[in-house]
Amino acid sequence: MVGYVCKYTPIEIIQAFDEEVLRIEPEGKAGEDVESLIHPNMCSFMKGALEEILKNNINEVVLVNCCDSIRRLYDVLKGKIEFIHIIDLPRKTDDHACSLFYNEILKFIKAYEDFKGKKIDLDKFIKILNDCKTENQNFKKSIAVLGARFNGSVLEKIKKRCSLNIINLTCTGDNRLSKIEKRDNLIFSFAKALLNSFPCMRMVDDRLRFINKNNIKGIIYNTIKFCDFYSFEYATLKSALNLPILKLETDYSDLNNGQIVTRIDAFLESVGAGRPNVKIKKKGYFAGIDSGSTSTNVVIIDENKNIVSYSIVPTGARAIDSAKRAYKTALEKADLKEKDIKYIVATGYGRISIPFSNKAVTEITCHGRGAFYFDREVRTIIDIGGQDSKVIRLDNSGSVVDFVMNDKCSAGTGRFLDVMSETLGVSISDLGRVVKDFKEDIVITSMCTVFAESEVISLIAQNKEKKDIIRALNRSVASKAVSLIDRVGRRGKYMMTGGVAKNSGVVYEIENKIGEKIIIPFEPQIVGALGAAIIATEIGNPSQRQQQLYNTGIPEN
Ligand code: ADP
Repeated sequence: MVGYVCKYTPIEIIQAFDEEVLRIEPEGKAGEDVESLIHPNMCSFMKGALEEILKNNINEVVLVNCCDSIRRLYDVLKGKIEFIHIIDLPRKTDDHACSLFYNEILKFIKAYEDFKGKKIDLDKFIKILNDCKTENQNFKKSIAVLGARFNGSVLEKIKKRCSLNIINLTCTGDNRLSKIEKRDNLIFSFAKALLNSFPCMRMVDDRLRFINKNNIKGIIYNTIKFCDFYSFEYATLKSALNLPILKLETDYSDLNNGQIVTRIDAFLESVGAGRPNVKIKKKGYFAGIDSGSTSTNVVIIDENKNIVSYSIVPTGARAIDSAKRAYKTALEKADLKEKDIKYIVATGYGRISIPFSNKAVTEITCHGRGAFYFDREVRTIIDIGGQDSKVIRLDNSGSVVDFVMNDKCSAGTGRFLDVMSETLGVSISDLGRVVKDFKEDIVITSMCTVFAESEVISLIAQNKEKKDIIRALNRSVASKAVSLIDRVGRRGKYMMTGGVAKNSGVVYEIENKIGEKIIIPFEPQIVGALGAAIIATEIGNPSQRQQQLYNTGIPEN
């Protein structure tokens, strides 16, 4: 049995030695044995692969030097298993690259012949190639899945939900061997066909050409923790391709399917590839309603706490009307009726004005629960909404242990930014851009929104660069957030929630000031409603009640 991870592995050659091959598919979290062998920052795929190899006593492994992590895997396995070989994969697919790859395959054959003490069976190799299916590499209208390998169950979910063809172009994907040209030297033809499978991340230009030439309508791009390559490629594809791209971050060891599936559905809907009739098993559903000053958000989850739908609507003059509208939208998106909802928890500043909810819980508790759902390592939540800002400290069980709040005036809140965007004549999303190439380090000195607005008007009159003013405004909001953080004490991981988390400029400035990365959930505006829905599952399903999580000393009504 020979283990491998990469699709460029010459599987057919190994089979010609009468050996079985096994694609290593890490599923679980790496155990302590593996953690002690490698640096904690190595990618979770590499750790999972090592775990699988050691746990299943795979004594022969063939790797391809795709990235540093795989080279590290080679180093760790050397001397620990009976046969380990790494093949050097060229970064191009021209004739010269094919010759290099051919030589690499010959080297592998020689090494494996020496190890096995027998020659490759070329007749068998010819038979395997005659029998094997090659890809024509031309696809009908499709959604491509790219980046890091997806957990099999997620891929299945994507296929079920998508009305278009799904092609798996991840690095361990299905599209391997292109058509083998008839040539005298069969191993060379094989090397060429293998190298001409869908180009891997090391072959960026070929990859772009391939995507452009095929009928691909959108890309779902998977990145994983501790792997910069995927994030880098995602950025490259995003700027080079005129295609909708959904970026996901999954981790083989800690996959939050509910959250991912919601994002995938929203993306597929947006590119016209959704399957509206996916049947949801109607067991018990729970809703959270966050009635905020600026937006009213509803999240519906099932009894396993998977997000089934959400809505965000602007809060109008009457909180109750906005809540009804947001609730109706979320029900429609989930294809549910009011009677399917077992329990509703309301939160946010209008929470007591929603008569159809069963209970009201403060947004502090709810943001804590919602943030902890997304990442159990979060200890500090920075929630900046339309009218107030808060910093919430969680302990390692997700309970709120401390919080500070600024709700006296709109300084440092979304409202401050909304007023300034109108004054500057730029949209709120333009105000949210990160400015790194600033000309002048402008400082907005006034705390108060009214005085700060006059300051901005005067800066405009002085012909100051707009981007420098934008940077100054974002820095001003960031300073106030950091002073709140300092009041509860700095402690990571950090997560930002509320609408202002969509302002990358503010996020960037806070990160700069605290010197730490901030996690932004896929939809930061629904975190409070999500927390409320989670609490609804526990109150509405008494068997699941976790009373200790509400003992925060914070008034509930
Ligand atoms: P609340 O909970 O008080 O209703 P939200 O959490 O909905 O407030 O946040 C509203 C604020 O979020 C707005 O005032 C606006 O400044 C900011 N915001 C909303 N959407 C965006 C966006 N796409 N880009 C930048 N900022 C945004």
